[in-house]
Amino acid sequence: MPIVKDTSAYKNVWVFVEQREGKIMPVAIELLGEGRKLADQTGSQLCAIILGKGIEGLTQELISYGAEKVYVAEHDLLDKFTTDGYTKVISDAINEVKPEIVLVGATHIGRDLAPRIAARVDTGLTADCTKLAIDEEDKKILQTRPAFGGNIMATIVCPNHRPQMSTVRPGVMDKAIKDESRKGEVIKLDVKLDQADVRTEVVEIVKTTKELVSLTDADVIVAGGRGLGKAEGFEMLKQLADKLGGVVGASRATVDAGWIDHSHQVGQTGTTVKPQLYIACGISGAIQHLAGMQESDIIIAINKNSNAPIFDVADYGIVGDIYDVVPALIDALDRADDLAAALKEVAGK
Ligand SMILES: Cc1cc2nc3c(=O)[nH]c(=O)nc-3n(C[C@H](O)[C@H](O)[C@H](O)COP(=O)(O)OP(=O)(O)OC[C@H]3O[C@@H](n4cnc5c(N)ncnc54)[C@H](O)[C@@H]3O)c2cc1C
Repeated sequence: MPIVKDTSAYKNVWVFVEQREGKIMPVAIELLGEGRKLADQTGSQLCAIILGKGIEGLTQELISYGAEKVYVAEHDLLDKFTTDGYTKVISDAINEVKPEIVLVGATHIGRDLAPRIAARVDTGLTADCTKLAIDEEDKKILQTRPAFGGNIMATIVCPNHRPQMSTVRPGVMDKAIKDESRKGEVIKLDVKLDQADVRTEVVEIVKTTKELVSLTDADVIVAGGRGLGKAEGFEMLKQLADKLGGVVGASRATVDAGWIDHSHQVGQTGTTVKPQLYIACGISGAIQHLAGMQESDIIIAINKNSNAPIFDVADYGIVGDIYDVVPALIDALDRADDLAAALKEVAGK
């Protein structure tokens, strides 16, 4: 790799805005929130780059989320995501405009795209970051990510190459706050792309018909672990989750056992969540699980083993068998509902 000596030519923070069927993915809004902080700390501008066909209508939304400049690449060949097409257009834009920092969401698309771009523009990339900060002295970005199965947190710096690139785990950063009154500049990129550049052909996009859970949006998550002993245990947790207006989460052990779909998995290789209430039922609290839920506002742990590490992060702990405790909780909530209904009736009379 040649040493880039003149890093001063590179300016501003770029956020790659992933859109699917004209909808901005939530991770892009999280990155605009984080990008704002980095831009403020480095005294630079926050910019968004968005690719697609017929997506110009989204630019104002990105401005309202804090982008000062929005680079737009519109082209028929960018209608659906392809690694080739997106890599070429973004790499060309980076070489021309020279951003200092480029943030990409660590979604399936982002994880496919970012390494290609990094190789093409000859720079460093840190994958799947969970924390970003700016070094006060040299203003370089400190990119922190779990490594070695989550057992250590590694902080990585890209000293001599530009842009400094990171993919960032969805669900970790706070979303940017929308303000419709914000103003920004929309810059159309001159897209140089022809069919020969895009070797991938999208034949069909199949959407899964299975029930999908949105763990990142849930206020309440009732999660189950190997302590459930069997797939049917999740039905009991679903009852509790329904009572509380929440969704069901799971440890990897239960997903590996085939008891529940991976879309429910919380943790380092699943989803990172920050609900108001996380109830961990029969989950030991392995570091890889904690990595995905320890930022929850309130954590309640139910486990037979009082030494289980989950109790170290729990605000409330119940030592007991989940098959005793969870039905008792459902029962108590039922009685509370009955009481509320009775009180309403009395009040109405
Ligand atoms: C690279 C890597 C990535 C990983 N990513 C993830 C991830 O994203 N998410 C994740 O969850 N894991 C992940 N893991 C796996 C992780 O290390 C643990 O193996 C897993 O979290 C354990 O799941 P568990 O707590 O359900 O099971 P266990 O560790 O087996 O714990 C079961 C718990 O249930 C309790 N129990 C048993 N019966 C009952 C009962 N009747 N009532 C009450 N309590 C009971 C036990 O005391 C025990 O504490 C990863 C591992 C690696 C190496």
